Amino acid sequence: MPAEQFRRHGHQLIDWVADFLKAIENHPVFPNVNPGDIRRRLPPSPPQKGEAMTDILADVDRVIMPGMTHWNHPRFFAYFTSSGSGPGILGDLLATAFNINGMIWQSCPAATELEEVTLDWLRQMLGLPGNFWGIIFDGASNSTLHALAAAREQLVDLQIRERGMSGRNELPRLRLYISEYTHSSIDKAALLIGIGMEGIRRIPVDDEFRLQPEALAEAIADDRREGWLPFCAVATIGTTSCTSIDPVPAIAEICNRENIWLHVDAAHGGIAAIVPEMRHILAGCDRADSFVVNPHKWMFVPMGLSVLFTRKPEVLRRAFSLVPEYLRTSQGDEATNYMDYGIPLGRRFRSLKLWFVMRYFGVEGIAKRIREHFRLAQLFVEWVEAHPDFELMAPVPLTTICFRAHPQGWVDEIALNRLNEQLMHAINRTGEAFLSHTKLREWFVIRLVVSHLRVTEADLRRLWEIAQAKLPEVLASHM
Ligand SMILES: *Cc1c(COP(=O)(O)O)cnc(C)c1O
Repeated sequence: MPAEQFRRHGHQLIDWVADFLKAIENHPVFPNVNPGDIRRRLPPSPPQKGEAMTDILADVDRVIMPGMTHWNHPRFFAYFTSSGSGPGILGDLLATAFNINGMIWQSCPAATELEEVTLDWLRQMLGLPGNFWGIIFDGASNSTLHALAAAREQLVDLQIRERGMSGRNELPRLRLYISEYTHSSIDKAALLIGIGMEGIRRIPVDDEFRLQPEALAEAIADDRREGWLPFCAVATIGTTSCTSIDPVPAIAEICNRENIWLHVDAAHGGIAAIVPEMRHILAGCDRADSFVVNPHKWMFVPMGLSVLFTRKPEVLRRAFSLVPEYLRTSQGDEATNYMDYGIPLGRRFRSLKLWFVMRYFGVEGIAKRIREHFRLAQLFVEWVEAHPDFELMAPVPLTTICFRAHPQGWVDEIALNRLNEQLMHAINRTGEAFLSHTKLREWFVIRLVVSHLRVTEADLRRLWEIAQAKLPEVLASHM
């Protein structure tokens, strides 16, 4: 593509994106399509001849847009939101334009060193100790897989790196501790490192959905008696269902005493600690061996940026370092070669978008927006609590609200579950707001996440209006 053509279409596309973001509320947040609708509009085989850029861009409107769930929409309240800010989008564009591969220092010194510096800034923003060393992965699932591999590598005497795990009768079975509300990515990581489903022990939670440390201590003692080798426990700051916060100080105490690796999953919730008065949610995390947080969730960085911090980078390195001859370098310890600390060899210049976001908003700018999310979430809590036909289903330690409709006189839990599922779909079908759900104990609850860059009080009021208007409609169809 000649430079002048690139410039022309580049300007066109940037204009398109600017218009799109400016008027994003005019699009339905959730598309009205059925499985296969988008696929059917696309040719079954690739174009043999090159096509005009104008035709490609036109098809974005014609084919792609009708199938979009708009994560950048201010009334996207589902899952954990990820909102792409202007500076983040531009940083990502530049990273794509540079198209470097940051596998080792000399394959792109700026990428390696900007990653080191931005992650140290992030560490300071979260109030984590100076011995926390960070590395960027695409998502928390990947960060966690690396953390658990390091936890296993720390059992040096077992020589798992050299001898593997299968066919070894003398190898004790490894046990991993999580709670009933730990994210499934931890289970996946355990499967991948050879722990097996049976090696995962789920610790019960208290009535606020937090891992119970006494139960953890008992489980470990129990397991040791029966010949298991406890090697790792996972605590969560902001569980996926209801953002409950596990008591990390007590869990860290147990892990320290038992000499097992403590991994903290703060993928969504950790970012709240940027607000000084919320710092307390990370109490005890200075004693974690590893810690994951996702700037692509609550920090306005576009998708594809999770950070794994660890106090023990040398263990991570021992787990993953394998240097083929063609990548041997002469820089010595001065230079970090990130490929030594993980599975991926090739690495995008991901820190660029993080740097753009941190500089554009500043720490105070980010904190101000997160603080506003806390205010808005409390407002919604008040509305729910004041309404006779709605109720709160879990505490709200951060800005995620689990609630449901509960019309007066209804006692049948199965009927309530069905009612709330229908209510959620009715709200989503309006295209004006998008919510997701979770199961807390046996309850179907509607989950509202207030962490979007663009969300305002008016958006929340609109959602509340829709929810109240849809309830009688759904009730009528229930009769
Ligand atoms: C989002 C989330 C994950 C998974 O993150 P990905 O980046 O999508 O892999 C894991 N744990 C928690 C607590 C999360 O909020």
